[in-house]
Amino acid sequence: MSETIFTKIINREIPADIVYEDDRALAFKDINPQAPVHLLIIPKQPIATANAITQDDREVVGHLYWVAGEIARRDGFADDGYRLVMNCNDDGGQTVYHIHVHLLAGKPLGWPPYQERKKSAL
Ligand code: 5GP
Repeated sequence: MSETIFTKIINREIPADIVYEDDRALAFKDINPQAPVHLLIIPKQPIATANAITQDDREVVGHLYWVAGEIARRDGFADDGYRLVMNCNDDGGQTVYHIHVHLLAGKPLGWPPYQERKKSAL
């Protein structure tokens, strides 16, 4: 798998506003926020897409969701609520091929997220 911008963030080769880190995961603010709180929670081990998650990755992927809850409790929006999203491939809107959980919070979010969009020219 080729290196993505998220590996560069993990390795501190490019800056990011990091809000959480442990031995398996990193969370940082999305550069183009879609809600008052928009964080990306990523495994330090690169996995390209949700399709590439294996049984061996169950622990680390579950850990990403635990980290989301930890941040929500720590930052005081757990009870108000939030949304966790993992986009997969083109129709899912994935643009960075290192899995990540989007954590969106800070105001009531709309549903469904569907908007008309042409397939990207990947
Ligand atoms: P995706 O579209 O793959 O689900 O989400 C990728 C997310 O990464 C997007 O929301 C985009 O704004 C964010 N992103 C892309 N490049 C960077 C970057 O260099 N730094 C940060 N903090 N976020 C980025």
